[in-house]
Amino acid sequence: MAKPAYGAFFEKAVEKLHSERRYRVFADLERVNGRFPHALWHSPEGVKEITVWCSNDYLGMGQHPDVVGAMAQTALTTGAGAGGTRNISGNHHPIVVLEEELADLHGKDAALVFTSGFVSNEAAISTIAGVLPDCLILSDELNHASMIAGVRHSGCEKKIFRHNDLDHLESLLRAEDRARPKLIVFESIYSMDGDIAPIAAICDLAERYGAMTYIDEVHAVGMYGARGAGVAEREGLMDRIDVIEGTLAKGFGVVGGYIAASKLIVDTVRSYAPGFIFTSTLPPAVAAAACASVRHLKTSSVEREAQQRQAETAKRVLLSRGLPVMMGDTHIVPLLVGDPSLAKAASDRLLEKHRIYVQPINFPTVPRGTERLRFTPTPFHSDDLIHNLADALDEVWSALQLKRISVAAE
Ligand SMILES: *Cc1c(COP(=O)(O)O)cnc(C)c1O
Repeated sequence: MAKPAYGAFFEKAVEKLHSERRYRVFADLERVNGRFPHALWHSPEGVKEITVWCSNDYLGMGQHPDVVGAMAQTALTTGAGAGGTRNISGNHHPIVVLEEELADLHGKDAALVFTSGFVSNEAAISTIAGVLPDCLILSDELNHASMIAGVRHSGCEKKIFRHNDLDHLESLLRAEDRARPKLIVFESIYSMDGDIAPIAAICDLAERYGAMTYIDEVHAVGMYGARGAGVAEREGLMDRIDVIEGTLAKGFGVVGGYIAASKLIVDTVRSYAPGFIFTSTLPPAVAAAACASVRHLKTSSVEREAQQRQAETAKRVLLSRGLPVMMGDTHIVPLLVGDPSLAKAASDRLLEKHRIYVQPINFPTVPRGTERLRFTPTPFHSDDLIHNLADALDEVWSALQLKRISVAAE
């Protein structure tokens, strides 16, 4: 018997993406410390300077002197790697200090750091729900892939509620015995649309029906609240949420993920989650850099205020050109294209003709028919850069005959 034609299976899988116009092409970028949001693009025709408009380094903290300094200094004093898992020789001091800093940030007893936000969601949700007998997970339909992975991996029964729909969530909760363990998992800011969950009302429902709450604040930490702890901080709700999850890679500009919760919950995840136990600790230099970023943003609101201001300016300027901004109350500025080929063509033209880099967002990240360009203005995207962007988009929208909206008189 011939062996299976393995290559053909992979070819078919990749071909499927081409035929659906959602084959991913990565831009070969080189960040230059101190030049954000400018970067170098290693294009097929050589190296070109571009402006990055879709970075999740939302506040530019990845190039903040205190953060880069902490990373470089710590690498020089401690070396490159952690040398082990948390349990076996890798529990280095900078990660212990970072966890104390994160627990304090969220007003919780304890925090636990993972190698990424993805891993933190996958490991924490699956472990927490898995420990609760016959737990029912209630999950918002637009939750991030990492939360879905955690829900699946828990092996628990799940019910999906319509996005931010309190009536739907309540009807699902009401149908259950109050004594049955339940975990509501949701995000504060949904980053593809830039909308915000009704956190207080979800906490009310959790209390009424005896559920635990788990919130992903990945797109809010560093950026919302007086000390940068997120939307729950801004709304005075941190103590009503059982588990707060965040990333060190977006607003904080480094890498890593975490949860903050009671000592008992953190101890449980620490002791049972394979994704925490069986992997090496983040390097000391990374932990020290993240810690410097968290500390800086606890006391400095300059970055948060500038980000909000530039996001508002970008929305206003783009709308005034009739560009279809999907309006929300956050720092995210999505522009609807509605077709995967056109979204890709618009992105290619922006990069090749205008040296503006924004990645198209396609299915499965967003529903089919809502393909978009997603801009993330930072404190470093000046008014001039915003006007350059608007001019470039104007040209691209005309050249590709993309849909506009009617412009209300300003
Ligand atoms: C990016 C993201 C994550 C994963 O965080 P990383 O630190 O990048 O792994 C988790 N949740 C949401 C909502 C995200 O957008």
